[in-house]
Amino acid sequence: MRSTAGYSVMKITAPVNKIIPFSNVDGPSNRMAIFFQGCPFNCRFCHNPETIHMCNDCGDCVKTCPVGALSLKEGKVTWNKDLCVNCDTCIKTCRHDASPKVTRMTTDELMEKILEVSPYIQGITLSGGECTLQKEFIKELFPKVKALGLTTLLDSNGSLDFESNEDILEYCDGVMLDVKAYNKEFSDWLIRYPNDVVLKNLDHLLATGKLEEVRTLIFPDRDKENEATVRYVAETIKDRCRYKIIRYRQFGVREEYRKELGDFTTGEDYAMRYVELARSLGASKAILV
Ligand code: SF4
Ligand code: SF4
Repeated sequence: MRSTAGYSVMKITAPVNKIIPFSNVDGPSNRMAIFFQGCPFNCRFCHNPETIHMCNDCGDCVKTCPVGALSLKEGKVTWNKDLCVNCDTCIKTCRHDASPKVTRMTTDELMEKILEVSPYIQGITLSGGECTLQKEFIKELFPKVKALGLTTLLDSNGSLDFESNEDILEYCDGVMLDVKAYNKEFSDWLIRYPNDVVLKNLDHLLATGKLEEVRTLIFPDRDKENEATVRYVAETIKDRCRYKIIRYRQFGVREEYRKELGDFTTGEDYAMRYVELARSLGASKAILV
């Protein structure tokens, strides 16, 4: 906090879970990928459940850290990055789908990290958790990133109504949107969140030219639901953007849901059927991931 003329100005910060300086799977070309903590969805198949909630400082993980990298000071859990050996024991200990390894950063602090790699990347991708929970931070960050000549992408679950939050898109080159379910009942079961905003966002981002790509996860024994989602997305986007059809993989999924969903990975041939369906409906840029 800084003080100006007798009153205080609070700097905007965002909870950063992880930064990957060079990624070639978080959008086109070589990009820095920044993952924020916190997500309004609670997907059964989430591969990074430790990014869903904010730490509540219960202190359970402090006792299990093998190298003393965590401590509880004045009711707050503190993480010592230099001592941490990234064993993830704390993540396994946590019963709240949170992580103690989160750093609150200002946009200037994040810009320092981006500047270190800016000659070697084409742009940055903000992900999560759900990045749009940090919309004020993004509105401050993106103009600074654009000034470096870098591109700016959001990797989003579509929970933020983009039409009502147009200003977040002003300096954003595109959104990589998850459309996890078209069928409402399936969506309620799968992500435990209404999907009407997600579907509205699909239309809005398409109409404004900000849809970079769409992604849909395919489950092995959900023929009707898979088909409904793929059909809807393909008929909506046609050949106007990339459509990634993704196979469900059990890696990282919480044990209780692995049991419920079954220990399986969607077969390649089965998922390919949906790629072919999407292509047959005009989504010529559909690919299997
Ligand atoms: S990953 Fe967690 S438990 Fe492991 S050393 Fe780091 S802080 Fe400690
Ligand atoms: S990360 Fe989880 S276990 Fe550790 S203090 Fe926070 S809520 Fe508790």
